[in-house]
Amino acid sequence: MHISAFFDSGNIEVVSAEDPNDIRLRIRKDEGPEGFFQWFHYRVTGEAGERRRMVIENAGEASYTKGWEDYRACASYDRETWFRVDTSYENGQLIIDHVPACDSTYYAYFAPYGRDRHHDLIARCQSDPRVRVEVLGETVDGDAMDLITIGGSDSSKLKIWAIARQHPGETQAEFWMEGFLARALDPDDPVAKAVLAKAALYVVPNMNPDGSRRGHLRTNAAGVNLNRVWADPNPETSPEVYHVAAKMRSTGVDFSIDVHGDEGLPYNFIAGADGIPDVEQRQIDLRIAFEAALRQSNPDFQSEHGYPKAPPGKANLSMCSTQIASAHKCLAMTLEMPFKDNANSPDEQFGWSPNRCRKLGASCLDAIYAVLDDLR
Ligand SMILES: [Zn+2]
Repeated sequence: MHISAFFDSGNIEVVSAEDPNDIRLRIRKDEGPEGFFQWFHYRVTGEAGERRRMVIENAGEASYTKGWEDYRACASYDRETWFRVDTSYENGQLIIDHVPACDSTYYAYFAPYGRDRHHDLIARCQSDPRVRVEVLGETVDGDAMDLITIGGSDSSKLKIWAIARQHPGETQAEFWMEGFLARALDPDDPVAKAVLAKAALYVVPNMNPDGSRRGHLRTNAAGVNLNRVWADPNPETSPEVYHVAAKMRSTGVDFSIDVHGDEGLPYNFIAGADGIPDVEQRQIDLRIAFEAALRQSNPDFQSEHGYPKAPPGKANLSMCSTQIASAHKCLAMTLEMPFKDNANSPDEQFGWSPNRCRKLGASCLDAIYAVLDDLR
């Protein structure tokens, strides 16, 4: 038996792999003082048909232990189709019990989204003549911060921003991007055409390339949680936010959606910026209208379950959505998708899946269209 995480976004430490019935593993921590961890991604090569019981020994010290309750791990033989396998969480250990159908099996916290796939996405988009690809700057490791712009040459248009994967382990967010961009660029889609007639799209499909490659849950290569530095991004330790925020200031922002995944809650939901000190009623009304339109467009989205709201005036302005709502006086939101499943519409085989992320991304264009005329 051989276990490896020596690839893009791999993360596992092998304690012992002698006994297939008692494989002992640990998740490696992110860079940074908080020592975040929860993301795992590794390959086991053994014998098809032989049961393996994998024990993640340090699961009980992970960042969001509620995330292990009613959680089912993702697994794949072909690295494209990710199905769910049962787990149990007991005595601070996550146990994945699986009888594989192939010799080599990949296991991950959620379907991984590698850097090659990111480059495929950028390359696919730029084959459309309406698309511009731009590098806004470099990450801490020296990777490129890619921005896709659709229809950005007309400065009178509304400026719609969408960013994803500030937290690199939340790969849902880049699958969402695939659906969002594919629909935005579909020349036969009437909603996409209507949105692009009035708005330019600015899209950062991956805000944290270094953390993605390194197999981090939340931080970049300098150990910074990017969604806590928007009030004052540092060009040395959080250049990813620094460059994107600078571009936002130069274009202006009329709408912003920051796409994430949530470890604990088995729902899709929005966290708004209603709690910023100088919130305008129109910002709150727009958020309510956007959510209503998204619920109507895609029943996988709901507004009943979510984070507790910050008391009026008390929102944390170090986060992307609150900082943008405050600085640009616009509708700015965080969208959260589950790692587990949508409890309102569970899927036994795949749980919440890349395909469903893509569908939700596509549906967000309907919701943007619904509020478009009121954004400014
Ligand atoms: Zn997040």
